[in-house]
Amino acid sequence: MKQLVDKLFETNNLSSAEYKELIDNRTPELSEYLFEKARAVRIQNYRHDVYIRGLIEFTNYCKNDCYYCGIRKSNRKAERYRLTKEQILECCSVGYDLGFRTFVLQGGEDGYFTDEKIIDIISSIKAKYPDCAVTLSIGERSYESYKAFFDAGADRYLLRHETANAEHYGKLHPRSLSLGNRKQCLYNLKEIGYQVGCGFMVGSPFQTTDCLVEDLLFIKQLNPHMVGIGPFIPHHDTPFGDKKAGTVELTLFLLGIIRLMLPDVLLPATTALGTIHPKGRELGILAGANVVMPNLSPKSVRHKYMLYDNKICTGDEAAECLYCMKRRMESIGYRITISRGDHKSIR
Ligand code: SAH
Repeated sequence: MKQLVDKLFETNNLSSAEYKELIDNRTPELSEYLFEKARAVRIQNYRHDVYIRGLIEFTNYCKNDCYYCGIRKSNRKAERYRLTKEQILECCSVGYDLGFRTFVLQGGEDGYFTDEKIIDIISSIKAKYPDCAVTLSIGERSYESYKAFFDAGADRYLLRHETANAEHYGKLHPRSLSLGNRKQCLYNLKEIGYQVGCGFMVGSPFQTTDCLVEDLLFIKQLNPHMVGIGPFIPHHDTPFGDKKAGTVELTLFLLGIIRLMLPDVLLPATTALGTIHPKGRELGILAGANVVMPNLSPKSVRHKYMLYDNKICTGDEAAECLYCMKRRMESIGYRITISRGDHKSIR
């Protein structure tokens, strides 16, 4: 198996049969070998720097009904909220003073936030903080909407593809949502000129190794600037409330593989990874990740943006979250930097 890791390290590519072989035959020893290579590549590209993104969860209203997600439309128990533009700008102000230079606006697909409102929010942030990047993570919209947001100043867009296998996609989503449309959105975003992030949940219900192989091949083909992966974690008020969570072990292994496939990709150690293991984010960095996304949402709404059970950092102020993260990164020999943290191809 080590030869496959070496081959991936040298060529940034494997065949689907080889990915399958690698994933199915992984051992703790092989993982450690993979992580060593992944760290070497990551350090060569980004030294020991860890980029931070300030996550602003600005609405938990959603018109979609994804079976895994705690803020799905049918979850009547979710207490819904929206931040005002002023509240969002206040999050940015707190974040800026703490050293954040990227703001990620994430939310459910909330019709209240029309293109006009989103454009107004983007342009207000960019006017006040011209040295900062704005990342959107607000789901599927038309080419025209994406273009208008880009023209208003949005720099990046996160839209996880969730799974690259159409049949599997159908088991995670209602019929109104399709993998074809999700992929089209990603191609549109790329064409418009965004730095684009795709990604998937590890260990989502009905996922097989073949699904993961398809995810890897799709990622290689899309060649995104960012890839967000984290374990699936059940939420008790969803149809998947009694399904098993994904594992730290497989998530880390896939992080390592993705680092070798796309040597300079921006790869977060996600909150979900930190939720299923107390040192999940540190382990993610040590497996090749180079981004963390501390929460900048107002403390009063954090417990309402519950995508899954037991989500961490819902009780802390932004500053506490950042200091905690700084300590965590320093404890493993890495450092958080004050910068936009663009993809290498942009600078
Ligand atoms: N509405 C936006 C943002 C979705 S939330 C969009 O459609 O892109 C961001 C990500 O959280 C999702 O893409 C999904 O991969 C992840 N997520 C949702 N529910 C989850 C769960 N139960 N466990 C782990 N991750 C989850």
